[in-house]
Amino acid sequence: MNEKDKSRKNFFQVIIIGAGPSGLCCAYELVKNKVGPILIVEKGCNIAARDHKVSLKDYTEGVGGPGLYGDAKFCIYGRAGTKLTKFFSENFLNQLANYADGIFKRFDKNRTKKDMPSIFKIKKLRNICKKHGFKLKMAYPVRHLGFPNGKNVVENFTNFLKRNKVDIWTYTQAKKAIKIPEGYKVLLKQRGRIKIVKCKYLVNAVGRSGNEWLKQVCESLKIPFELNTPDIGIRIECPKNVLLPVYTLVKNPRIELPIGKSYVKTHCLCIGGEIIVYKFGKIFAVDGHANHREGGNAHVNLLYHSQENKKIFDLKIKRPIVQRMENFFKNRLTRKEKIIKNKLGATTLFSLLDYRKNINNIFPKKLVLAIKKFIIQFDKICPGFQDSDNLIYAPVIEWNTYQIKVNKEMETKLKNFYVVGDGSGLTQGIIAGSVSGIIAARNIISKEKGLS
Ligand SMILES: Cc1cc2nc3c(=O)[nH]c(=O)nc-3n(C[C@H](O)[C@H](O)[C@H](O)COP(=O)(O)OP(=O)(O)OC[C@H]3O[C@@H](n4cnc5c(N)ncnc54)[C@H](O)[C@@H]3O)c2cc1C
Repeated sequence: MNEKDKSRKNFFQVIIIGAGPSGLCCAYELVKNKVGPILIVEKGCNIAARDHKVSLKDYTEGVGGPGLYGDAKFCIYGRAGTKLTKFFSENFLNQLANYADGIFKRFDKNRTKKDMPSIFKIKKLRNICKKHGFKLKMAYPVRHLGFPNGKNVVENFTNFLKRNKVDIWTYTQAKKAIKIPEGYKVLLKQRGRIKIVKCKYLVNAVGRSGNEWLKQVCESLKIPFELNTPDIGIRIECPKNVLLPVYTLVKNPRIELPIGKSYVKTHCLCIGGEIIVYKFGKIFAVDGHANHREGGNAHVNLLYHSQENKKIFDLKIKRPIVQRMENFFKNRLTRKEKIIKNKLGATTLFSLLDYRKNINNIFPKKLVLAIKKFIIQFDKICPGFQDSDNLIYAPVIEWNTYQIKVNKEMETKLKNFYVVGDGSGLTQGIIAGSVSGIIAARNIISKEKGLS
């Protein structure tokens, strides 16, 4: 890069595409080590402007990404939501998970407490699970910011970055990344206008919503990638007291029911809060988040993991489906009034859901049978789980991504071209994504300091 070019306003030492947790933590680490100038581009809006009621995309796009703006539940465990175990020891990933948690803690004015499950409680839950054919696979410390505290943390975080001269351009979408001798040229679309910026290091932190775009960029740059095997399933909403026997022992346990070579697992257990509908590309999906308001029900995802699962490109549904438990088991549709007047008092917006479709028909039979088996069995641990009035929402999809080939520094075969967070197909979660952003930042820092 010649000096004239560098002095121009369009040159940055590091450009980060995406302002989710992985992009923010990457920028934080670079700032702490005085690497810059840094530009973060984000296709969504800034965090203050995000409002759950604006659009379905608002859940997944915008500064903070989806999780920090929703449930903001930190799973502080090196093995949770990550495939980075293929590069690093559990011990090392644990250290980084705690470090990432510490970054967010710095910006949490509410000083949200970390919940550490006691060995006694883990043992108790493990024994209960074993008695009924389940396995307690993971129990770890959780810091649950909830909504809207996560939003406040993101606001404080971005203010810190801005004070440290990081440029954050919102409503700015990266359209193309091109290799040039000095580094990378990125074509941006900002409020309808095309802008070109250049950098030495390019960090792609585009999350799940940008994974499809990133795959196309990798194709054009001849960076290898492969398909991940997704986990697919449903979310169950039931009265709060039903899931309390488990929740009081371990806040967000991963409980698995083995079924041959496959299994069904619990994911994202919430007490209170609401079911939400969001959209990634063409796919509508559901999830849930808890907040610190009173009321609400309990809800949890049940995900089927099987090598036979295929990436879902389009489920051909225009909205997620809702069905009463009784009808799900009897393989029948639920009438609209039966849902609206349901005893449970469901917490989501029915206008966003479809009750004219049957969940049994959108998924493969094996998946449906496996989930039903889980429900019947889990009712023995949490009586009322299979209650007729409980509601079932579908689909829930995780790991529905391409995995981009990177080395253990999160760098692709192209020098100084990094891929981090959920968009890399290697992580799934706020802390896991953040860890990968920190790893890339540290590699950039060591290059800048001439250490590698
Ligand atoms: C509804 C919901 C609730 C969740 N709750 C939790 C939770 O409680 N705890 C947890 O650990 N995880 C949760 N997750 C998962 C969590 O949000 C993600 O794992 C995490 O945000 C990944 O971080 P990331 O930085 O990799 O990507 P993201 O957070 O997805 O951020 C990527 C950002 O890049 C932007 N972007 C994409 N493409 C482009 C482009 N071309 N140009 C510019 N910008 C672009 C996107 O708009 C987005 O803001 C939740 C997910 C969802 C959908």
